[in-house]
Amino acid sequence: MIFDTHCHIYDDKYEEGIDKVVETCLMNGISLMMIPGDNINNSKKAIDIASRFEEVYCAIGIHPEEVDSIDLEEGIKQLKELYLTSNKIKAIGEIGLDRYWVKDEKTINKQKEFFIAQIELANELHLPIIVHDREAHGLTLEILKKHTPKYGGVLHCFSGSLEYMNEILKMGFYIGLDGPVTWKKAEAPKLVARNIPLEKLLVETDSPYLTPHPYRGKINYPYYVKYVIDEIAKIRENNSREIEEATYENGKRLFGIR
Ligand SMILES: [Zn+2]
Repeated sequence: MIFDTHCHIYDDKYEEGIDKVVETCLMNGISLMMIPGDNINNSKKAIDIASRFEEVYCAIGIHPEEVDSIDLEEGIKQLKELYLTSNKIKAIGEIGLDRYWVKDEKTINKQKEFFIAQIELANELHLPIIVHDREAHGLTLEILKKHTPKYGGVLHCFSGSLEYMNEILKMGFYIGLDGPVTWKKAEAPKLVARNIPLEKLLVETDSPYLTPHPYRGKINYPYYVKYVIDEIAKIRENNSREIEEATYENGKRLFGIR
């Protein structure tokens, strides 16, 4: 049983169409998928896919790179309205901070406002959060400590040190690992894979991005998550089945899926 807990299969890169992508995933060993939204429009697409496939769940949210796409108040209002339209929405995400693409303080401040408001929304709706943190570890931790998510969450595509991992785990959060753990020179995620308590690990693809070895450079698919699982198993000297099952149960627990 495999659960890809983070994939953007509404992306235009999938020329074959969403239905074909989902069907191919289900034929290739994927049991569950979580599709996060990154803006209002894509959150709607995620809801639509989840409503059509039993195995697909979704999250809604405004990504830090999308904070200029909508006014904050209007964004929160629309997310609240969207939440009422589906019982497959299991998280607010992906939300957070991105200092890799964004350097100016004005936009960083806007990212902070969106992040905090969406944590509060998640608390109000009794939902966990899916956090995107790129080159903003210190600030992310500061916000999470000050505005505690009451229903937990995952730090997706984790790229930090063991020290940062421990801080995140202390908050009761899960850690998501994806394609980079399979890349030869990516030492940080390999170290995390070796040391993380298994009950706190999620596996994900971030499809269509971050494609694992041996398909790196090509478009990513949720079923390639098996390469992520195999690499983690190899690093930890577990068998893949153990990683598969633990991460499947962890994902269901975090997102409240029965
Ligand atoms: Zn993502």
